[in-house]
Order: sequence, then C-alpha cells, then structure tokens
Amino acid sequence: MSETVRVRFAPSPTGYLHIGGARTAIFNYLYARHSGGRFLLRIEDTDRRRSRREYEQDILAALAWLGLEWDEEPLRQSARISRHREMVDALLESGAAFRCFVPLEKAERIKQAEMERGGINAFRSPDRELSAKQSQARADAGEPFAIRFRIPTLDVSFHDAVRGTVSTPAHTIDDFILMRRDGSPTYMTAVVCDDSDMGITHVIRGADHITNTPKQVLLYQALAAPVPEFAHVPLILGPDRKRLSKRHGAQALTEYREQGYLPEAVLSYLSTLGWSSGDDRELFTRDQLLENFTLAGINKASAVFDEQKLEWMNAQFMSQQPDERLQQMLRREFARRIMAGEIPHGTGPMLAKAVNVLKTRAHFPIDILDKGRYFFTDPELIEDRKAAKKRLKDPATPDRLEELANRYEKLSGFDEHSSEQALREYADELEVGAGKLIHPTRLAVSGVGSGPSLFAMLGALGKETVMRRLRTLARFLREHGTPPDLGDEDTDPPKLTA
Ligand code: GLU
Repeated sequence: MSETVRVRFAPSPTGYLHIGGARTAIFNYLYARHSGGRFLLRIEDTDRRRSRREYEQDILAALAWLGLEWDEEPLRQSARISRHREMVDALLESGAAFRCFVPLEKAERIKQAEMERGGINAFRSPDRELSAKQSQARADAGEPFAIRFRIPTLDVSFHDAVRGTVSTPAHTIDDFILMRRDGSPTYMTAVVCDDSDMGITHVIRGADHITNTPKQVLLYQALAAPVPEFAHVPLILGPDRKRLSKRHGAQALTEYREQGYLPEAVLSYLSTLGWSSGDDRELFTRDQLLENFTLAGINKASAVFDEQKLEWMNAQFMSQQPDERLQQMLRREFARRIMAGEIPHGTGPMLAKAVNVLKTRAHFPIDILDKGRYFFTDPELIEDRKAAKKRLKDPATPDRLEELANRYEKLSGFDEHSSEQALREYADELEVGAGKLIHPTRLAVSGVGSGPSLFAMLGALGKETVMRRLRTLARFLREHGTPPDLGDEDTDPPKLTA
C-alpha cells in the first residue's frame, strides 16, 4: 500500500480540449493530488495526419487555465516509437505475438466466415501456427506482415474501480495488431508500453475506452508487468441524452474561457459530472475537491452536461471573487469600449465601483459592463417602458425628485447610508411609502426598473451624478407627463436630455 499513485492524462492532439477530455484530466489530477501521488501528461501524437501542434498548445493552455499542473516532464508518444517496437519485438520473441502475413481485407473475410460457421466471434489468424523459422523466412523474403497478439484461450478479467470486475470472453477478442505492415506501432502497443514505462498505477479514462482494456490487460500479462487499476468514467451526454454536440458543450474549453467562465466554476462543475461527494453539495472549491475526491465516488450512470447549470455556477463563483480579479478580467474589454467611444473617457475609477456593486448579480464579467452602463454614462432614455408606466405615474413625482436632489445637495457626506437615510426621512415627511421615492430614483439614475440595491448604487455613483440625474428626470417628466409618453414600442423613446 505504500506504492505512490501515478496517473496520467493522455490526450491525442487531434482536436481542441473539450468538456469530456477536460473532465478526464480533472479526475486524474484530483485523484493524484488527493492521494499524494503524481499527475503526468502524455501527448499521444502518433497519428501524424490528424495531430497538430495548434491543438497541443490549446490542450496545454486549457489545462493551465484550469490550474491542473502536471508533474514531471510531459511525454511525447511519437518520440518513443523505437521503444514501442522494442516491446513488440520482445513479445514476438516470447511467442506472445506473431507475424501475420494475411492482408487486412482477407483477415476480415476469414473472421466473417468463422462467425457464419458458428465458430468464435473474433479473428484468429492462420499464421499463428507458423513456426518461428517459417515466419522468419517469409519475413526475410520481403513478404509484408503485421505483428498480432496471440489471444490466449482463457477469458480476461480486470478490476474497474467504477464497475467492479469486468470479464471478457477470449473468443470475442481478435488477434489484434500490435504493429502495422508499415512498421508503425498501434495505439494498443503504445499505450501499454508508455503506461508501463511511466509506472502508471491507475488508468482513469472515458468509458469509451473500456473495450480496449481487456486487450491491454493481456499485454501487461504477456509482459509480466503489473496491471494498473482501471477506472472508466461515465460518458457525458447532452441534455437530449445524446452525445454532446456542438450546440451544448462540445466547445473547446478555451471558448468557455473567452465567454467569461471562471476556471473555478468550470472545475467545480465538471468535477460533478460523473462524480459525487456523497452529500448534495453542488459547489466545490479546489481544496474541497482535493479533499473529497475518491474513485469510489465516480458514478456508473452517464452524466448530463447542462450549460445553464454551469452558467449558474459561474454566477455563484463570480459573486465570491475579489473585485480586483474581476476588474482585471474586464480591463481589456473596458479599454476597447472606451477607445470605441462606447464608454466615456475618464470613467476608469467607476469600473471598480461597478464591479463591487454588480458582481453578485452578474453571470459573466461582461454583464457588469453591459448591465452597468449607467455607472459610466448618464442614461440616455428610459429603457424600461413598463417600469416607467408603473413607477412614474404620480403627478407629484417631478417635484419629489427635485426636492430629493436638493436634500442630497445639502448632505455633507454622501454614501450608501446617508443617501438612504435622507430618502427615508423625506418619505416619512411626505407620509408616503419609501417605494414612492425609491422606484423613480432608480429609474432616474439607471434608466431601468430593477438592479442592485438602490443605495449601494447611489453611493457608488456619487452625489453630483445622482443629483444631476434626479433633476434630469424631473425635467423630463414635466415635459412628457406622468407617466411620460414614451411613444409606441417600435420607435425609440424620447431622450432624457433633449
Ligand atoms: N489518447 C487517448 C484519447 O485521447 C487516451 C488513451 C487512454 O487514456 O488510454 O482518447
């Protein structure tokens, strides 16, 4: 039991890192860190035609973004081909493998015929019977061959941490190829050779690999190498219970980053796709995950990816972030909007305030700029027709807004607290509910009928701005009536400042 856990994430750089791959990486990482083991990275780039450096960079960037730091130097599978060949040679030498001169199409025909005859459900090469001498002679004569594994007669069993004992009858497994006719080792060869050389103790990967596992177990046995523990994690389906498609979740992780997802939220959410802590917690910090993650908590049933849930989780994590971090995330877009004239120059200091007031109501950082336009510029018009009709119908409103502005003007210190106190005092004097002042004031300062706490907003906007906007709305209402005539739905409402 003193054996150190060594796990690996082994992506093929034939595409960007998607939700499924990221979840596999996360489970490996969590298991390694939870058990004080090592998390290794291996780039399985032996498919020359489909592998691309661009994808590799994307995968590394996504892992870094999620904070999945790997140990040791990453291994590049394509650099190990000679080692893979050595392993195949050893298996040939021991008799566990053999040269097969049967061309692929013919092998398929032999298998079909065998199955029709009611024999075994797998390909058995006639060339397994060749003597070492015959086989060598044909190879020396230049006849092309693949090297195949000689499937034994005994069934194969292995232990899976998720499914328990998995047994496969030997007669369903082909004499599979270890090395192709062109001399290239297959995935089966490379993965066992590398996992064995890397000292991998636990193979945690997608359930789509489970049919490969019996073959790999046979290879370990033939090599007299220790068989790792396996954990095949359930597939992730879309909300329609079909394979994840582009519409939901099959995007690259880096696209989620661009959309404003926080890595903490993605880490927390993906961890719960196919794993549960045993209680009904839904949100996990990295430390909580590291503490709680076990292979026993992995579920058998497939998981469903729900982007709305992920978005909700992002909102939860957003509200817990330090303001500085969110400001940092928004800095580039903020600058772009200033340069594009969408936000006035000189409003930089308002960014911190907008973040502070709005972060608990935003799903994404960008929402702070979109919903919080009024932090940077006076509302041009009353966007919210319904709110205007309901909240600005009292004929006394213009005078009250004017008077509130006058009262604010006299305050020596203006902040969340004093703005509230002054407003409530005035409402008491008028003997009206505070709502009679609160709603019109909200519309005056923000142009919309709902938002964060009004007084937090007022405090953040500052006295001058608040007074100006109150007076602007008072003027507007005197001109356009209570409630104001905002024209019909198809045209823009009149500007607050004509
Ligand atoms: N390279 C394989 C893949 O990306 C993973 C192989 C494995 O985990 O054994 O699907």
